[in-house]
Amino acid sequence: MSVIREGKVKRVLEDPSSKQHVIIEFTNFVTAGDGAKKDELEGKGRLACDITEFLLKYLSDKGIETHYVETLEGPRIRCFRAAILPVEVVCRNIAAGSFCRRYGIEKGIELDRPLVEFFLKDDDLGDPLITEEAVLRLNLVNKTDLGFMKSIALSVNHYLSELFGQQELRLVDFKLEFGKTADGRLVVADEISGDTMRIWNKEGESLDKDLFREDSGDLLSAYIGILEILRKTDPDSIPIRPETLQVIVMPKDGIKNPPGEVTKKGLIRLGFQDVKEVRVGKVFQVSLTKPLTSGLLKGLELMNIKLLTNPIAETHEVRLA
Ligand code: UDP
Repeated sequence: MSVIREGKVKRVLEDPSSKQHVIIEFTNFVTAGDGAKKDELEGKGRLACDITEFLLKYLSDKGIETHYVETLEGPRIRCFRAAILPVEVVCRNIAAGSFCRRYGIEKGIELDRPLVEFFLKDDDLGDPLITEEAVLRLNLVNKTDLGFMKSIALSVNHYLSELFGQQELRLVDFKLEFGKTADGRLVVADEISGDTMRIWNKEGESLDKDLFREDSGDLLSAYIGILEILRKTDPDSIPIRPETLQVIVMPKDGIKNPPGEVTKKGLIRLGFQDVKEVRVGKVFQVSLTKPLTSGLLKGLELMNIKLLTNPIAETHEVRLA
């Protein structure tokens, strides 16, 4: 099988049986600090593969599109071929890692709600934090896809937190990668394992790669523990997290807007002489029965065009509520 890409701990291989798919092979390597610290642990690849398989299957059962197709011997998984977007998404519930280093915050502080951050995928630059504005200005990801990535990260956070919560574990943070398939679907790609998330037990002890980063315990036993814990969970009892979106509709520039003109006159009458123009639009709040998917997003675009907006006279923008 020819190698498409050799990563630090995984290899991406051509799938000889299908152009639509690739095969991801998990190695026994474990690295930290961008490869500065490296080791090989017998059985680690199998464990990371099994945890990834469990979690990606669980997420797709909850309606989140992922690249996972099936597990093969190896440890390998067959995945949809996807062009990986150049931005990584991190979601945090508790302060740890680079968040603490960057802002001088004590490890363990609970965030009042989940925080989504974006990082530029560039090893030479050390994967720096990047603002949403810079992602858009540099044309790294378009606005719709960026909103979608944020929405999915929050859904994944909800589902993983609930699942680990059943066994009294805390999901501290995790990293996601996204890819675009040939048929235009935006899917959660890469692995989700102790290598890409932080999990703490009731005592605040790590069950993840921090054990290796900080030389503070046995990584293999922790990964065996995660897998045992996952197999004790009851994923079916976790309810679907619905998504709420807002469609903001505005009259196009140059199109007459009588309600805006009336409002402007009223404001001037009240003494607000500096009002030059008022344009009145509308907002539709749409709640879905499940997480957002590329298919739903396309459906929503159709719905906008057919029902909510008049594309000749109005513009529209979809936002997460
Ligand atoms: N993470 C990852 N790959 C990276 C960077 C981070 O999987 O290249 C994961 C990491 O394991 C943690 C979360 O993303 O669960 C947040 O990592 P952080 O930004 O705190 O950076 P770190 O402390 O790993 O340098």
